[in-house]
Amino acid sequence: MLHPGEFGLGKVPARLQPDATTRSICGFCSTGCSLDVHLQSGMAVNLTPTADYPVNLGMACPKGWEALTPLAAPDRATQPLLRNPKTGKLEPVDWDEAMQVFTLKFRALMDQHGPESVAFLSTGQICTEEMAFLGALWKFGMGALHGDSNTRQCMATSHVAYKQSFGFDAPPYTYADFEESDALVFLGSNLCIAHPILWQRVLRNKKNPEIIVVDPRRTETAMNATQHLALAPKSDLTLLYGVANLLVQNHWLDRAFIEQHTTGFAEFAEFVRPFTPDMVAAETGLTVGQLFRFAETIGTRKAVSFWWTMGVNQSHEAVRTAQAIINLALMTGNIGRPGTGPNSVTGQCNAMGSRLYANASGLLGGRDFLNAEHRAEVAQLLHLPVERIPAKNSLAYDQILEAVAEGKIKGLWVIATNTAHSWIDSARATGALDQLEFLVVQDMFTTTDTARHAHLILPAAGWGEKEGTFINSERRFGHVKKVSRAPGQALSDFNIFRLVAEYWGCAEMFTQWTSPQAAFQVLKKLSAGQPCDITGIEDYRQLDAAGGIQWPLTEGMNYEVGGMKDTHADPVSYLLPHNSYLQERRLFADGKFFHADGRAKFLFDPPRRMAEPVDGEFPLVMLTGRGTSAQWHTNTRTAKSAVLRTLYPANPYVEISPDDAARLRIEPNTTVAVVSRRARAECTAVVTPTVRAGQVFVPMHYDVTNRLTRAEFDPHSRQPSYKYCAVRLEKIEKKSL
Ligand code: SF4
Repeated sequence: MLHPGEFGLGKVPARLQPDATTRSICGFCSTGCSLDVHLQSGMAVNLTPTADYPVNLGMACPKGWEALTPLAAPDRATQPLLRNPKTGKLEPVDWDEAMQVFTLKFRALMDQHGPESVAFLSTGQICTEEMAFLGALWKFGMGALHGDSNTRQCMATSHVAYKQSFGFDAPPYTYADFEESDALVFLGSNLCIAHPILWQRVLRNKKNPEIIVVDPRRTETAMNATQHLALAPKSDLTLLYGVANLLVQNHWLDRAFIEQHTTGFAEFAEFVRPFTPDMVAAETGLTVGQLFRFAETIGTRKAVSFWWTMGVNQSHEAVRTAQAIINLALMTGNIGRPGTGPNSVTGQCNAMGSRLYANASGLLGGRDFLNAEHRAEVAQLLHLPVERIPAKNSLAYDQILEAVAEGKIKGLWVIATNTAHSWIDSARATGALDQLEFLVVQDMFTTTDTARHAHLILPAAGWGEKEGTFINSERRFGHVKKVSRAPGQALSDFNIFRLVAEYWGCAEMFTQWTSPQAAFQVLKKLSAGQPCDITGIEDYRQLDAAGGIQWPLTEGMNYEVGGMKDTHADPVSYLLPHNSYLQERRLFADGKFFHADGRAKFLFDPPRRMAEPVDGEFPLVMLTGRGTSAQWHTNTRTAKSAVLRTLYPANPYVEISPDDAARLRIEPNTTVAVVSRRARAECTAVVTPTVRAGQVFVPMHYDVTNRLTRAEFDPHSRQPSYKYCAVRLEKIEKKSL
């Protein structure tokens, strides 16, 4: 049996020279920038953005520049901590005791209450190899069923929308499309702030493109738009159907593409007929002229790309809204060509890895648990009895927390996510955590809002202290390297999972998973024959040399690029940097989609009202979103940097329109209370015309924000609707600091 001491605590790989520069993919957002990490005596001391990486072209945002800082934070978890039931305090234990308690408690719960009495909540922040190992270990090795990822909070909508429309979760684009569009449409996306390097790619566009922003707020991106459609919050689905109707009425359609490559268009055209310009203008608050200009731009430009992020994904009707965007691309033939595509920009550094390999809502490699053939394939590839693979889906994140609140789930393993802060209506989520009989938190830090509730903390290595791969928004696998020692007894998530397998007694099922590099070979096998096939990627070395590689890349190295077939007989050619075939590839150039009939589907439903409209008591709509490019989600890592802390306000703040501020006699920089039906939060008043009268905006990074939000979910993706709840403002007579 492996002993914790055999897991190479604190070692830096020998192949890194003591004083050298190596490359690693950034561990914050899904852009997937490459960073040159500079080493002294084998340890990372500094970094600079990689000049010749095809994603970031020598640029990095403030978070990337500060990526090493969180590793030295004083609240790092350096050894396992177990809560003493007598004192109620967390006390240090060794890995052996931690693992014995872990297995004893989870096994006892499963024996007594069944395999559905435990669950995990994981993340899009760990490496693909790690999330795949966790999902396989939990379901096939330990025999549990429920597990979900925080990707449910950001990308579940895109996953479901693409899968239903295209037959597979397949973002079609490559970042070069930012530079090749005649018109770029940003929906619910403040790209300037949320994905600043991608915004730089937009600025490199030499075609003088039309830039259209659909967003209730006058965001930094909207300020740079040629058309800003400041629609009423959550009227986007109506707007998109209205635009589709205008495209039909004006014959701005690609009839040949529709007929050869899609199904359901006639029904869709009939469905959107009642969405007349007058009706849509009344619902959205836009003018008929704005609607017409928007539709005309889409209908008459040659290369139109559509980009959406959380303003679409985090909605009560998110999947149908994403599909309404996809429908616009399909009906105008804006897909599969340079500068086109209905393109969802991912959130976390490895959300795409989670969507394909977490083994949570879908079976490994983009398969389905409910499909017997898929289960048989995975069983054969992993040399497992097929009955080890559940023929049932896991509960989704919200359903897991609901089952915790109802006492049905009694044991929870939270990995690299901060549920108590980030989940919608967070006070309710936190209350549920407190009912658990056993809560394990595996994290870099001991002080997260969630770790404070743990019975057991497992100390995890962070980005830079372990190896693996991330998959970015444009489907590019990139190599993440170990450039620093994890502190104390902290282990990589991969090695923690190996340890769990050992102590659980199922390690013989995972003999192929000896290292991230070995697990990558397993991922390749699991991808075989799937749309995300990567059997043509040799290994990490090739990823480094090629500047990352987008999926698919099938074995035999035959693939089509923009209609041209390229065959690489010589594997060495793949090691050349700047191989143009490897750098930028998009899907659907041949018009073939992944449904059995090879066609994409038009999907649609009537718009629905929000469950919590504004009223006399709560007359304002609260919008949420990213505050600055220096902040990452719950600030767990970004708050560790003194540099980043200078780039955003320390206290929660609320943006209020000048009209509302005058009406309510609220002075700038005074403290106001934002009150919803669930909570009351004190915030600094920022009076700004970026929000319209009747709306306020609170950034998502502060722990008060999600105490205010209302737990409503998209019915198809079960993604939370963070972007809309009803609030009021109350004046507080004291000056903010
Ligand atoms: Fe690039 Fe995102 Fe990292 Fe910033 S956070 S450097 S944009 S990958």
